[in-house]
Amino acid sequence: MDLEKFIRDIPDFPKPGIIFKDITPLLAEPEAFIYSLKIMENDLKKYNVHKILAIESRGFIFGAALAAWNKIGFVPVRKPGKLPFTTIRESYELEYGKNILEMHHDAIKPGEKVAIVDDLLATGGTALAVIKMAKKLGAEVSCLLFLIELDFLKGREKISSYPVHTYIHFKE
Ligand code: AMP
Repeated sequence: MDLEKFIRDIPDFPKPGIIFKDITPLLAEPEAFIYSLKIMENDLKKYNVHKILAIESRGFIFGAALAAWNKIGFVPVRKPGKLPFTTIRESYELEYGKNILEMHHDAIKPGEKVAIVDDLLATGGTALAVIKMAKKLGAEVSCLLFLIELDFLKGREKISSYPVHTYIHFKE
């Protein structure tokens, strides 16, 4: 299935110069959404992970479905101040600004294998921050899954020591 046709370009959102990749047309089309999950699941199955770490907020959409389908624990990685219990945090650079992410300090047990899931890989800063948090908690990062990759931002180079799976590529 050609998934690219379900991704809508929104120029200058949320800042001038950024072309935002809007996945809501894909989510609104059940066959496209389910197909996206199936191709991600196909790679996820290779790793036998204990937990899926999904990144707020669009990562939750894919991460939660994959976790439930595959009977894997779901761990939300959230923007600051959202999680109610004791957290660890990491700050990072975004394609369009700076941000902080948090997760609960007891969300992963040492030695657990995890997959990191998000909708889109841009500069890789977000993914790297999540890798750092997972490692602080003693996890083994088995793989990273993103539906979309903005190839021209070369985010993959930042996380090149881990298996990275992406499915829709934008070259420019
Ligand atoms: P990065 O840390 O640069 O790899 O950015 C990845 C995160 O920012 C993901 O959570 C994406 O959802 C979001 N993001 C970055 N750039 C875009 C974009 N052009 N369109 C949609 N989402 C984006």
